[in-house]
Amino acid sequence: MLVEDICTEDEIWSCTTCGACEEECPLAIEYINKIVDLRRGMVDEGLVPQSLQKPLKALEKR
Ligand code: SF4
Repeated sequence: MLVEDICTEDEIWSCTTCGACEEECPLAIEYINKIVDLRRGMVDEGLVPQSLQKPLKALEKR
């Protein structure tokens, strides 16, 4: 599984999507959208960090 074997959950949720790495990358590799897709997949599988569970529940209620 990509999450666990390659990247930790913490690494995936730590990215602020600031774009600094993409701006500096000499090969113009774009991967912020992939990080966001990974997060989407994790949320679908119920892998949500403790700090986001309460805000997501509140959004779900609204
Ligand atoms: S977008 Fe790149 S530089 Fe910014 S937090 Fe995420 S990984 Fe780090």
